[in-house]
Amino acid sequence: MSLIETENELSIYESMAARFDVAVEKLKLDDGLAHYLRKPNREIIVHIPVAMESGRLEVFDGYRVQHSIARGPCKGGVRYAPDVTLDEIRGLAAEMTWKCAVVNIPFGGAKGGIVCDPSKLTLGELERITRRYTAEILDYIGPERDVPAPDMNTNEQTMAWMMDTYSMHMRHTVTACVTGKPLDLGGSHGRKEATGRGCMIVCDQAMKRFGRTRENTRVIVQGFGNVGSQAARLMHEAGYRIIGVADAFGGVFNSRGLDIEALLLHANEARTVKGFPEGEAITNQEILEQDCDVLVPAAKESVITSHNASRIKARILVEGANSPTTAPADHILFERGVFVIPDILANAGGVTVSYFEWVQDREGYFWSENDVNERLKNIQVAAFNDVVQYGERHNVNNRIAAYMLAIDRVAFSIKLRGIYA
Ligand code: NAD
Repeated sequence: MSLIETENELSIYESMAARFDVAVEKLKLDDGLAHYLRKPNREIIVHIPVAMESGRLEVFDGYRVQHSIARGPCKGGVRYAPDVTLDEIRGLAAEMTWKCAVVNIPFGGAKGGIVCDPSKLTLGELERITRRYTAEILDYIGPERDVPAPDMNTNEQTMAWMMDTYSMHMRHTVTACVTGKPLDLGGSHGRKEATGRGCMIVCDQAMKRFGRTRENTRVIVQGFGNVGSQAARLMHEAGYRIIGVADAFGGVFNSRGLDIEALLLHANEARTVKGFPEGEAITNQEILEQDCDVLVPAAKESVITSHNASRIKARILVEGANSPTTAPADHILFERGVFVIPDILANAGGVTVSYFEWVQDREGYFWSENDVNERLKNIQVAAFNDVVQYGERHNVNNRIAAYMLAIDRVAFSIKLRGIYA
């Protein structure tokens, strides 16, 4: 497979589109359909006026991009960050469509974001931004239309505010309008751990494939937020040796293995893993290049690029974050024989349990944590096998296999619905 070139390697949309183009060519997908699926259905831009604590009025830019409703309502997170762009949200929305199709759940893809720096906002300001954003996009969301969820810098509280705002406008409580809610407001058992657990489930499958044991497997995790900390904790409990962890402020490395329980306590106090005494300090870039068996980038996008891919020493890459690897880096990892479990498979545990939450809210009947975890495992294992077998059958790497499988499923639904009528 040749190097995938992009004009702007760091553009999430371009990386998505470059892989999409390779996949549709291999699928020999109809040109018109490919053109349709390459672009989102709808892009919403809102300008959110918010009264700040100082008494000043500030206006924040917000986005919601809905990529596809071919297989069901749109589904996708909302992120808050100072550098959020429409291009990034557009790329991530398309990835959500492919992700939902890879795990075969009845959703299309969407993504949302607000350009703001949560670390500089009070809780009251964050609540007002969230409520006004929800009100601005209200006509386009809802259980049957588009169901938001948490993402970077948003959490259960953000979803509770969104659910309340939506419900106030509907004049009755609508729990199924967002997922990732607190348990007491229609949330699901196992949702908080779901993305990290999903990463472990697919990693376990790779272990089985290569005849490896957890105990002899050294793991490095970049990112110690929702996804990274849960992945590290669950993998540590399951017997993997976690030798390195990093977050935005720095990292810690110990080739003998880190005590993740103690690291969680340290991170809770210090708000960072940096400074954990039972290991050596390391930067959050250096950690990616350390010798290990499994690397879990679970922080942010575009951390593995054409510049550092040749220095990645891991044999297995479990993409906990969305789009952590750029398209040009794919080829380098493939040439080096790295077994890549792509984001749209590896981190699909989150959206899968979000699907369970949506189902439970609509039924008004809630499942035990055991049921959630078992059903998640069944779905992730089936998706792993689907992707790996598809790749072997079509002689493509796991990422292109996942894209081909997903695009094929979405295209099939569109054809069944009769787009050409
Ligand atoms: P989060 O905000 O809870 O945590 C992000 C973590 O990454 C923090 O520990 C932060 O310090 C760290 N980080 C930021 N910049 C870094 C850098 N340069 N180097 C090292 N660490 C850095 O976010 P999250 O919910 O854990 O999401 C992480 C990634 O996983 C994102 O790409 C997100 O889109 C993706 N994802 C999240 C979910 C979910 O259920 N939360 C599901 C699927 C995918």
